[in-house]
Amino acid sequence: MASLIASDEVAGTADPIVVGVPAGPGAGAELLRRAIGIDVVRLAEAARFSGAADEQLTLVVDQTPPRVLRLVGLGEGPASAHVLRSAAMRAGAAMRDAGAVSLLALESDDPAAPAVVVEGHLLGAWRYSAVGEPDLAVALAATAGAGERVARAERVARAVNWVRELVATPPNELTPAVFAERILRFADEEAPGLVTATRWDAALLAERGFGGTLGVGSSSPGSACVVELRSVGAAGAPTTALAGKGITFDAGGTNLKQDRSEIAWMKSDMAAAASVAAAVVTAAALGAERSLHAVLPITENMPGSRAQRPGDVVRHPDGRRTEVSDTDSEGRLVLADAIAWLAASGADEIVDVGTLTDSGGLGTAFWGCWTNAPALGDALVAAGERAGDPGWRLPLHDSYATLLASPVADSVNAPLEAPDTGVMAATFLLPFAAGRAWAHIDNGSGAWLERPSAAWPEGPTGTPLRALVEYLVPAS
Ligand code: MN
Ligand code: MN
Repeated sequence: MASLIASDEVAGTADPIVVGVPAGPGAGAELLRRAIGIDVVRLAEAARFSGAADEQLTLVVDQTPPRVLRLVGLGEGPASAHVLRSAAMRAGAAMRDAGAVSLLALESDDPAAPAVVVEGHLLGAWRYSAVGEPDLAVALAATAGAGERVARAERVARAVNWVRELVATPPNELTPAVFAERILRFADEEAPGLVTATRWDAALLAERGFGGTLGVGSSSPGSACVVELRSVGAAGAPTTALAGKGITFDAGGTNLKQDRSEIAWMKSDMAAAASVAAAVVTAAALGAERSLHAVLPITENMPGSRAQRPGDVVRHPDGRRTEVSDTDSEGRLVLADAIAWLAASGADEIVDVGTLTDSGGLGTAFWGCWTNAPALGDALVAAGERAGDPGWRLPLHDSYATLLASPVADSVNAPLEAPDTGVMAATFLLPFAAGRAWAHIDNGSGAWLERPSAAWPEGPTGTPLRALVEYLVPAS
């Protein structure tokens, strides 16, 4: 894991050194020249390394013993947090088995730079491991005073990588029961005594009116459950409630998915529940002032003789009834249960997260956000921007509710006469908030990358975990 070493200790390490190469001379290069007599600027010139952002090169310098250098381009001008994180992610991926001392943070005056570099390095070094956590050692040459920020970055990166590990786990291994168990264990390990984690079984779900979750879960008998997480904040502080979709495999149900390249990555349909769980546990561990209450419905959505049918009607905890027009729009059925339950529990605000659509068409770099409380939506978007985990607000429109009208229930779950998009999912969910401040986050396009994007490899990203932690406990 990350440790800080003083800048003048660089000479003493035999570990590979990650050095930032701005498009002009940088502090990291100067430090290396003084400490161990390596002139990185001349080396970079000789190797035709320009220092352009995202350019990287590994060199072995002929010393005794040989010295491994990873040159990392940082581009023109002062290195921003975004450039540093991206550079550290790429270096982390390249150096994942090596351990490394990073001089990247020295290339920025921003006091948050060491933490950003640690976060980027740990995220970049992650890969799925069926046999346990890989060693993600990184040492950081940094000025004093960075310790607390670095510790937070390390905790957040560990949470993101925990989410990625679960999302990448094969769906026959990460069953609903195993997923619930893993969340309970994570809460125990990362925030002992701070988070109360409880598992509700199917009988309790029936008693509490979670008809949407039980309907989806009918295809996978006995699988449906909820994990509830609670942490108590300062006296008089508001309660933020969160919900997260936890479908450990989404085949589409009776409306079986027809696109075999899409169904192939549907183990990732529990990414929102994992992100919300990790965000709540991490925020509590970081000393969140507000109280937190998460309800995470977990099940599978399979075809089969017991699967729910198009036309079935399910009843949610607030008594609202939904006609299931499309069994593949199952995420909003389970989130409706959770939101209705949380609204009745007296939460001051509700944030739900689900891989429901393509994030409202925003592409892989953003989560989409719809809200009935502009200040809440704006605060979530601002937190995502600060955390390097960006999202964007999209509008609701009253008239769309008529597209969800049902002759036999309060609404259908997906419009039959209009394209089913992020805004339709949000329109379906809105009434369950019962007028409380509510924001819906769709992480459907960014939670699992079908191909590499920016510094991220194909696979899970953990979004919007970093945004949620920053919203719940802003870094000072
Ligand atoms: Mn679906
Ligand atoms: Mn789904």
